[in-house]
Parts: sequence; C-alpha cells; structure tokens
Amino acid sequence: MNYEAYFETALDALRDEGNYRVFAELERPVEQAPQAVQLTEGARRPVTVWCSNDYLGMGKSARVREAVARTALADGAGAGGTRNISGTAHLHVELERTLARLHGKEAGLLFTSGYVSNWASLSTLGAKLPDCTILSDAKNHASMIEGIRHSKANKVIWKHNDPEDLDRKLAALPAHGAKIVAFESVYSMDGDISPMAEIVEVAEKHGAMTYLDEVHAVGLYGERGGGISQREGLADRITVIEGTLAKAFGVMGGYIAASAALCDFVRSFASGFIFTTALPPALAEGARVSVEHLMASNAEREAQQRNVARLRAQLDHFRIPHMENPSHIVPVVVGDPFKAKFLSDTLLEHYGIYVQPINYPTVAKGTERLRITPSPLHTEADIMHLSRALSDLWSQCALSRAVA
Ligand SMILES: *Cc1c(COP(=O)(O)O)cnc(C)c1O
Repeated sequence: MNYEAYFETALDALRDEGNYRVFAELERPVEQAPQAVQLTEGARRPVTVWCSNDYLGMGKSARVREAVARTALADGAGAGGTRNISGTAHLHVELERTLARLHGKEAGLLFTSGYVSNWASLSTLGAKLPDCTILSDAKNHASMIEGIRHSKANKVIWKHNDPEDLDRKLAALPAHGAKIVAFESVYSMDGDISPMAEIVEVAEKHGAMTYLDEVHAVGLYGERGGGISQREGLADRITVIEGTLAKAFGVMGGYIAASAALCDFVRSFASGFIFTTALPPALAEGARVSVEHLMASNAEREAQQRNVARLRAQLDHFRIPHMENPSHIVPVVVGDPFKAKFLSDTLLEHYGIYVQPINYPTVAKGTERLRITPSPLHTEADIMHLSRALSDLWSQCALSRAVA
C-alpha cells in the first residue's frame, strides 16, 4: 500500500469539501490582549482575537500567571508521574477541594483535560455499572460521545434539549439496570442552554443518574461561577458535574465534582485517570487561583455580559443575522463551508480580525458559521470595528441581512 498517497488523497477530499482546517499561528503578548500577532510566511500581522475560549481573559491575568510562574519556579515544571506513582502533589489535592467547594459537592477529581475527564468518567461508569444504558443528548460533545462508545454500554440518543423525548426513552427501558442521563448546560456551538430542571425531574422519576458537562458555563454563570446548575439551584440534584479549567478559568485541566464514593470509584477504575502523568502542579495552582478569584468576583462575568450585549446590539444595527441564545456565545451562521472560510480569511487579511470558521464535523453541514466570543478585554472600538467589517463583507458577498 502507498500510505503517503492515501493520506494525501484523504486530505484532498477535505479540501474539496471546504473542510480542510488551517490554524492561525499567533503570538499573544499579555499586555496587548485581545490583540495578538499572526505569523504568516515572513510577515507579522496584528490581529484582534474574537474566538478565544479563554472567555474572561483569566489566562492573561497577573494573579493567575504569577501563581503558575511562582509554582513552576519553586516546584518544577512537571508532576513527575501519574497520580498513582509519585505524581500526586499537595496542590492537586488542594485544587480538588476547591472544585468540590465550587459545586457544593463532597469531592472533586482532576484530569489532564476536560476531554479526558468526560472520556474517562463516562467510559468507566458506563462499563462498570450493571446493565448500564447511557442516554445521551443528540448534541453532546465529542468527548462524551467517545467515552460512551468506549464504555460499550447500551446507548440511547434523545432529542436535543427535549425532556419529553428523554422521558419516553427512559420509560421504554427495563426498570432494572443502571441509567445515566448525559447532557450539557451551555452548548458550545449554538450557545443554547438546556432545560435543566425538567431534565433532572425526568431523570429522578426514572431513577437515573445525571451527568452534566458544564464546560462552557463554569466560571461564567452562578453567583460563584459554579455554572448553570448553581444559577438554577440544581447542583445538589445533579449526580456528576464535569468542567474544564481551560476555558473561563484560562489554564488547563478537567474535572468531575460528585459524591466522595463516585469520585473514589472513578479514581480507582478509570484508565484515563490512572495511566497518565498528572497535570503539572504549577497549572493546578494557576487554576486554583483562577477558580478562587471567580468564586469571589463578579466583575469579569458582568463585563463579559456587557460586551456580549454591546456586540449583539451592533450586529442588530447592521442587520447581521446572529443566532438568538441566552448565553455568551454569538454564532453568526453562514451556512456554507467555503463562504465561512472566505469570510474568516478576509477578516484576518483585510481587517486584522481573527474569527475561526466552524465547519463540519464540529457543526452540521449547512450550518457552518463564525462563532464569536466577546470577552471583558474587548473595547467599544473593537466591537465597532468587527461589526463594520462584517457589514462590509455582508455587502461584498451579497449575503442576506436580518429583517429589521
Ligand atoms: C472544550 C470542551 C470539552 C473539552 O474540554 P478541554 O478542557 O478543552 O479538553 C468538553 N466538553 C465540551 C462541551 C467542550 O466544548
């Protein structure tokens, strides 16, 4: 077999569909954020980043950077092992206690990323619980889907955000056997929020556990940044809350918060926890400082929401269609992979604006989009510049405007 030819052909097919991914290579000096420098062949171009998942700029905050730097200088760069074999630092344990407190749970368990936390926890629970069925929302993130698949548990997909469909599907299952309802709070691509109280009620009625991905909500919602489950007063009725330390908290790592027994169970049986080197303690400490900060401060959340409202108002002014939702994610649907990429390329090259196009398989074909994430760091001038640029391009590409 000609392996190289096979790889090239597969990549050409992606290019033909408009789904070949090109990464923007950036330097991101702290003092200029949300401005960055894009490195192209031989050139350096200043750009404003409008698609970061460091939603609140915490990765750039002096407090968090100092915590990471101080700990790295004092304790070293890496953890030195898996948690089982010499890799457990006091700082990991401290962070887990903080995460448990954030969500009002007995315990927290740290992983190297949010992806790994979903994959490892769902695959372990689904594999070990007797006769387990996992009921998965149709729009769940790839990390949950992979974890469920790997568990080899019975899998039932229910209609996105539809508690009635969930109810029907739970009712159709035999009463014996474990059941896990897996869903998210804020969905990352549409920015919609699940009807959590109804989902919890349905799950409780059928004796099912709930597994909630709050990756796009932790740090951002709830009076202490504990996510939508905290805002809605539902955290104690959710069995497992999963989150990331890489988005609003601005660092890296993932976790679950749940009962002491459940966390101890996953710690003891999950291969994705046991057989991989622990997060560097410096990152754990940076994340802890970030979580503690956002537990006490609402300023960043308020500034973000203000900028989300400002951007939406400007897009309305120019009649740029943007998907309505109650979150901080502003999706501008283009509906075609080539157009989405053209808009993104032109914004970058001619306007110094970086918004990555979101194409299949991240979103369904025909719903390709620009996904804009305003942060507290953006200024009024940044917002005006982005809105005007989009308006220019809307005219240039003869895209349809929103009805006034
Ligand atoms: C980003 C994301 C994850 C993975 O988190 P990482 O910390 O980036 O690995 C999990 N779930 C959802 C919904 C996400 O968007």
